[in-house]
Amino acid sequence: MNSFSYSKPASVTDAVGEQTAHQQSKFIAGGTNLIDLMKENVERPDHLVDINHLPLAAIEDTEAGGLRLGALVTNADTAYHEQVEKRYPLLAQTILAGASPQLRNMATNGGNLFQRTRCYYFYDNATPCNKREPGSGCGAINGYNRIHAILGTSNQCIATHPSDMCVALAALDATVQVSGPNGDRSIPIADFHRLPGDEPQRDNTVQAGELVTAIDLPAKGFSEYHAYLKLRDRASYAFALVSVAAALELDGDTVTDARVALGGVAHKPWRKPEAEALLIGKPATKENYQLVAEKLLEGATGFGHNTFKIELAKRAIVRALGIAAKQEPTE
Ligand SMILES: Cc1cc2nc3c(=O)[nH]c(=O)nc-3n(C[C@H](O)[C@H](O)[C@H](O)COP(=O)(O)OP(=O)(O)OC[C@H]3O[C@@H](n4cnc5c(N)ncnc54)[C@H](O)[C@@H]3O)c2cc1C
Ligand code: SF4
Repeated sequence: MNSFSYSKPASVTDAVGEQTAHQQSKFIAGGTNLIDLMKENVERPDHLVDINHLPLAAIEDTEAGGLRLGALVTNADTAYHEQVEKRYPLLAQTILAGASPQLRNMATNGGNLFQRTRCYYFYDNATPCNKREPGSGCGAINGYNRIHAILGTSNQCIATHPSDMCVALAALDATVQVSGPNGDRSIPIADFHRLPGDEPQRDNTVQAGELVTAIDLPAKGFSEYHAYLKLRDRASYAFALVSVAAALELDGDTVTDARVALGGVAHKPWRKPEAEALLIGKPATKENYQLVAEKLLEGATGFGHNTFKIELAKRAIVRALGIAAKQEPTE
């Protein structure tokens, strides 16, 4: 691990100022991803800005009727918060599907948005990786790519975004609040993470010095009809091979609103409003879920070891929508 300096600012403005003043600096929250990456010599910050004492640890109502989740609220406190459990059970479910209880007690909502890919080559300094070292190549494209992306890839990177929580945030149309050297701004979750393109080193659209202060959930929480289906190699403590957050509104058996977001298949949570539109005004049937699945996976490409994910994702979508509509058992 490289040596680094450390500071513990008391205000958001000071934290932003501290990070802007040091070119290679990083904010540190729970440290559950950053410290691992520093130990592996993948991240080499020269300065850490500890944000743990900033006043960003509350969950409160928004004027728009939604809920604001402070960036420093832990994943555990978010998942077990009474309002989240009641109004946004899909979000609670995705958080609890991730990591372990110990990790969720440390991990924060802000940090979860920024966690980096679990691509093995990214963690292995002895192999090429365009995300870790731009221009060095990609070990995964012609390598062992079982966990890698099938949608939105580029010829420079096929990594997936590993978060479970972000898949629900995508389905719920959350908004990320940031504060930076040029003031405050809101980023719709759909625009927060980016596809690799020819800059795979950039995971998101956050600018240098910008600090996430909160995540806003809109009023609509799909609390009645929802499901998170996470398919993985072990029943717990494993990242998703494919995951599906499905949320429906139903009038009898007619779908009046639908959201489907996928995890484990792309560099960002994957949504396609045209696919969801295929359900609106239609009966909630397996045949119609299948149409959504085909549309969502349009253009999917496998790289050999991960080609199975295309069919797996389609079947998972159909099943998750069935669970959300309470037509299938949850297990
Ligand atoms: C063994 C293991 C298993 C895991 N399994 C899963 C899983 O199944 N599903 C899942 O979703 N996650 C999983 N995780 C990941 C875990 O959820 C993340 O590590 C965690 O959410 C990161 O939060 P943190 O507060 O610890 O972030 P940190 O490690 O402190 O920071 C991570 C990054 O975010 C930046 N950052 C943190 N807060 C802010 C902020 N407010 N504004 C701007 N930048 C910020 C930091 O600079 C850093 O770059 C696992 C982690 C481990 C170690
Ligand atoms: S898939 Fe992306 S993260 Fe993995 S080795 Fe290739 S460039 Fe690096």
